[in-house]
Amino acid sequence: MVVIGGGGHGLATAYYLAKNHGIRDVAVLEKGWIGSGNTGRNTMTVRSNYLLDENAQFYEFSLKLWETLSQDLNFNVMFGQRGVLNLLHNDHQMDAASQRGNAMRLSGIDSELLDLDDLRRELPLLDLRPCQRYPVMGGLIQRRAGIIRHDAVAWGFARGASELGIDIVENCEVTAIRQAGGKVVGLDTTLGPIDCGTLAVAVAGNSGRIAAMAGFRLPVESHVLQAFVTEPIKPILDPVVTYGGAHMYICQSDKGGLVLGGDLDGYNSYAQKGNLPMAETVLTAAMQVFPAIGRLRILRYWGGLTDMSMDSTAIMGATPVQNLWITTGWCYGGFKATPASGWTLADTIANNRPPDLIRPFALDRFERGYELDETGTGPYPNRH
Ligand SMILES: Cc1cc2nc3c(=O)[nH]c(=O)nc-3n(C[C@H](O)[C@H](O)[C@H](O)COP(=O)(O)OP(=O)(O)OC[C@H]3O[C@@H](n4cnc5c(N)ncnc54)[C@H](O)[C@@H]3O)c2cc1C
Repeated sequence: MVVIGGGGHGLATAYYLAKNHGIRDVAVLEKGWIGSGNTGRNTMTVRSNYLLDENAQFYEFSLKLWETLSQDLNFNVMFGQRGVLNLLHNDHQMDAASQRGNAMRLSGIDSELLDLDDLRRELPLLDLRPCQRYPVMGGLIQRRAGIIRHDAVAWGFARGASELGIDIVENCEVTAIRQAGGKVVGLDTTLGPIDCGTLAVAVAGNSGRIAAMAGFRLPVESHVLQAFVTEPIKPILDPVVTYGGAHMYICQSDKGGLVLGGDLDGYNSYAQKGNLPMAETVLTAAMQVFPAIGRLRILRYWGGLTDMSMDSTAIMGATPVQNLWITTGWCYGGFKATPASGWTLADTIANNRPPDLIRPFALDRFERGYELDETGTGPYPNRH
């Protein structure tokens, strides 16, 4: 079989196909180098602080896999469980966060609602003055959440898969999908044709392009999502902090740089690069909550291609083509799904049906009206 996409999801799928199911006759085809897509471009945050049960259970399964992944892969993915803290700025956000926090606790997932005294202790640099444009009223924290070194995830899964006999082919772009009798029988690539009995697609923001090659459409849009990193400084920020007044989040990497992210570019694009208007938006928002960082220099900024689904929930499993399976629609947040996505897609392929955990993520939910609308219930209560 062939997996298209040498990002975290494709490599994890190949790894678990070999490890959990003994399926080793697998080639992972990657048009660039492994991790050159969103896997190497994201802001590393992993969490399971969702409201809807289907998402909460899936991401909690993923968080549990992250907690033991370094041992499992024998490769240090540098998981720092420093917590993810959502700042809240009005009564509505406080209500929504306490509802989400309670839902999480009922599902056995940790969460804590924080008041201003707690926030003063957790985040000494946070501007808590009531004269702020969006004064902070409280916060919701998931302490088991945190950050993981993203390159290490690509390298760890790739090494693990390779040791189990998987072929990883870099600089190999899939350009066409050949079919017969409603099934994939082969692929054309920039390195030549390859036969294929089963196909898994894990290409994030390029999903629409691959679906078009296979003759169907997906309810996803590709947008650029950007990130920014400052020069390194001494430790000043422990948890990942999301700002509910605008769309901005910030954390500090192990090297000391402050890593910041924000909203999508508001138009469809396949450009993997950043731009100055979004830099201004994100950095202005960061200054509203942490004015003390204003004199830091931005070292780099970049963009990745997100695959935005219509209900902010992933799409996994079967497609209109019999032996073509897909994982897509991860929006802003698919890095944290990497091990669970690989685990469950491998299970789906090995058993020719999705496990219960991802059944709600089926592509045909949009026809059946069973959308999982997580919009507005995540860490950014005023937006997606
Ligand atoms: C700036 C930014 C910040 C983010 N922050 C977070 C975060 O903090 N937490 C979180 O959980 N998620 C985050 N995400 C989202 C997350 O990065 C993605 O959802 C996730 O990494 C997707 O993984 P993937 O393996 O599906 O995709 P990718 O890593 O993009 O891998 C897909 C691969 O497919 C390859 N490919 C595409 N087309 C072809 C083809 N025709 N032939 C061969 N290969 C092909 C690409 O080159 C690419 O390497 C962020 C994304 C961005 C852009």
